[in-house]
Amino acid sequence: MSDQAPDKDKAQNLLRELPSVDRLLNTSMAVDMMLAYGRSLTVESLRQSLEAARSAILSGKASYAPMNAVLVDDARVWLESYLAPTLQPVINGTGVIVHTNLGRAPLSEASRQAIEDAAKGYSTLEYDIESGERGSRTVHAEQLLKRLTEAEAALVVNNNAAAVLLMLTTLCQGKEVIISLGQLVEIGGGFRIPDVMAQSGAKLVEVGTTNRTHLRDYANAITENTAAILVAHHSNYKIIGFSSEPTLAELAELAHEHNLPLLYDQGSGALLDSSSYGLEPEPTVLDGLAAGADLVAFSGDKLLGGPQAGILVGKQELVVQLKRHPLARAVRADKLCLAGLSATLTHYLTENALTEIPVWRMIARPLKEIGSDADTWSARLQEMGIKAEVVDGRSTVGGGSLPGTSLPSRVVAIDYNDPDQLANRLRQEKVPVIGRIQDGRFLIDPRTILKDQVEMLLQSLVNCAMDL
Ligand SMILES: *Cc1c(COP(=O)(O)O)cnc(C)c1O
Repeated sequence: MSDQAPDKDKAQNLLRELPSVDRLLNTSMAVDMMLAYGRSLTVESLRQSLEAARSAILSGKASYAPMNAVLVDDARVWLESYLAPTLQPVINGTGVIVHTNLGRAPLSEASRQAIEDAAKGYSTLEYDIESGERGSRTVHAEQLLKRLTEAEAALVVNNNAAAVLLMLTTLCQGKEVIISLGQLVEIGGGFRIPDVMAQSGAKLVEVGTTNRTHLRDYANAITENTAAILVAHHSNYKIIGFSSEPTLAELAELAHEHNLPLLYDQGSGALLDSSSYGLEPEPTVLDGLAAGADLVAFSGDKLLGGPQAGILVGKQELVVQLKRHPLARAVRADKLCLAGLSATLTHYLTENALTEIPVWRMIARPLKEIGSDADTWSARLQEMGIKAEVVDGRSTVGGGSLPGTSLPSRVVAIDYNDPDQLANRLRQEKVPVIGRIQDGRFLIDPRTILKDQVEMLLQSLVNCAMDL
């Protein structure tokens, strides 16, 4: 048995063997680090490394002083992790397609390329190439939006919350807006329709009850102070059972009889009919316009499948007012958004949204294909001695879209005595893997795994399951 207490003299001798920061700075590895990371951070990392070595010696954990190369290498490891971006890619194995916490919609290749092109250099953001004069940034995605939705006008802003705010501020400030009580919703991240309305300076007039609102409730609430009727799509919850609301078309008719606009917060930005892919039907942007809504507001990064944006389409006369409002300048979209959004919208125009836009590719992905991926992956894991099998599962659209509906999937279920521990360890991978735990098993849904992440995913699963 060795001595319990660290030998003080020995420790002091070891401490004296440790080099100074200056000595380490002269090593060729440290010189390289300085070139890459600058002097100040390199010095800091070497101090960290020496401090760690000192503690190890004093606590008796180290029986010899580490070599300089080891000290510098530890410093490099520390520095790399210190500088690692906190916004980092992850592998989404949850099967939630538009995952709010994981960045919503992954972008198409063309969309990413367009963003890179716009980011790299100068662009015609506000420049008219033909006349050589100042142009408007608002034209870029708008032509495409008008074309796709056949709306008279369009406007792109920073996100849908901003779109709703701009719409209400411009058209309803100091006046009343009628909305059904059943639509006063919180849509995640603390975004509440009533709070945004309050910011706009519009007065909220709630009609009906949580589960039932009749057309006459709206009609009775109209006064000379009414500026608009607002409909907010229940994008993240569903009232099941005894519930009813007037249709958009009925509300449009009522609003127009009173010379009021019908404002529709559609939310998801669905341009395609989700019911063709086994999901419950959700009113699309086009349905909103067809029903007679004067303005439709929606997100760019939910079911539209593009970058974060808020989009407004509808009557020219109203959009012009919105564009002129000072708030429009405060919530305008940036060039990267406009570039990426235009590329995403082009996929709809050229009818290849289902193959090019990741969100729709995932929604439309045949169960057979998912099952075959799951089978292959599961077999590879089994070969490595991991207890994996393929079971039926459900993927969801998420992102506050299509509440209560899911898609059948085939998922890889890993049987591991402590699934939480496995999940934990997988989150610490260089590219963290996020899965789901159900019935004591760790699940990976192939539907939301991107093709170029498959090898990394399998490698991580093997590494982590063997490690533990
Ligand atoms: C998601 C959503 C919003 C907020 O959109 P963001 O793009 O996240 O700002 C507003 N209204 C509805 C109905 C939504 O679904």
